[in-house]
Amino acid sequence: MKCSECGLINPPSAARCDCGFDFRSGTVEASYVYPRAQDASGRGAASVVPPAIQRWNWGAFFLSWIWGLQHQVYWSLLVFVPVVGLFVPFVLGAKGNEYAWRAGNWDSTEELLDAQRTWMRWGVGIYAAGIAVSAALFFGGS
Ligand SMILES: [Zn+2]
Repeated sequence: MKCSECGLINPPSAARCDCGFDFRSGTVEASYVYPRAQDASGRGAASVVPPAIQRWNWGAFFLSWIWGLQHQVYWSLLVFVPVVGLFVPFVLGAKGNEYAWRAGNWDSTEELLDAQRTWMRWGVGIYAAGIAVSAALFFGGS
């Protein structure tokens, strides 16, 4: 059966997915394969990145260097470099959760995903506000 947490296809008899998702209880339990979140995160290159967080990060995409400074991704300042900067948000969007996982001490994958959802709301909100202000200046100027 397919794991609703990470998407991994498990054998029909599986009780728990590699990521720690328990099919009977429907909750994320300790994984047989991956260490506990407290042990796996915040260890830089030695961190074990769980599949459950390997998804697009809109907060990192929209807020780029602001998000980057907060998560110790200092090369995100390259966003100010012409041409190179165009690629920075896309790398941050694709790898943001992984960077955050390696940089911070998280108690669970859900804690990280919750925090990143908050970043996403700010990112989307600031972009929406920016577009609204630009539109007001553009259409209201004449
Ligand atoms: Zn899974």
